[in-house]
Amino acid sequence: MKFEDQRKIMIRDQIAGRGIKDKNVLNAFQKVERHLFVDDDVKHLAYNDSPLGIGRGQTISQPYMVATMLELADLNKEQIVLEIGTGSGYQTALLAELAKEVYTVERIDFLIQRAKSTLVDMGYDNIFYKSGDGTLGWEGGFPTCSKFDRIIVAAGAPVVPASLRDQLAIGGKLIIPAGDRAMQELIMVERTEDNFLETRHGGCMFVPLIGEEGWHEV
Ligand code: SAM
Repeated sequence: MKFEDQRKIMIRDQIAGRGIKDKNVLNAFQKVERHLFVDDDVKHLAYNDSPLGIGRGQTISQPYMVATMLELADLNKEQIVLEIGTGSGYQTALLAELAKEVYTVERIDFLIQRAKSTLVDMGYDNIFYKSGDGTLGWEGGFPTCSKFDRIIVAAGAPVVPASLRDQLAIGGKLIIPAGDRAMQELIMVERTEDNFLETRHGGCMFVPLIGEEGWHEV
């Protein structure tokens, strides 16, 4: 079956079929070709609803989980988004379709260089890249940006990093898996004028967020 048909079935059965309603999210999933973000030996699995290896012990996340995070984020073309954990660049492409600008941070230099090359080849010109520890947010990144409307973390943290809370704009939303090293809960933090409100959105399993305000490397 052609990749385009596999993608339609994935969206129908695994994303819309499991309750994702946001039309913009569904359109972005239709547009971004997941098979272009994985190695040749797993391309035939690209439209299964599962994470896949992308090298260096990391994974491209499960499509339904990515869709859940994107729907929770309630994105629009006015927003500036910080993404932590670029990985293959697949979620970065979806964010670039849904928001004005995406600032993405990945701790493994090989992965961010490969993702950047894929995303530049695809023509995305609203993405900025930083190789380093994303638990500290965009600190030291170029162009400078100190506040974000949305922050999406694609790795599991022990707790919500203080630096990420600080870099959230008032009215902004931070989506992050947090809990123990193997299993987490999806948490959304909303910043109001004088508070941070936390809501919980179900269990999940992500690779660990490793860094100064995350887990230690083993
Ligand atoms: N969303 C990605 C995609 O679509 O391919 C998958 C992300 S993968 C589940 C998690 C990524 O977070 C890995 O590439 C890992 O190297 C990265 N990561 C872990 N700790 C990090 C940190 N402190 N800063 C930046 N990236 C980190």
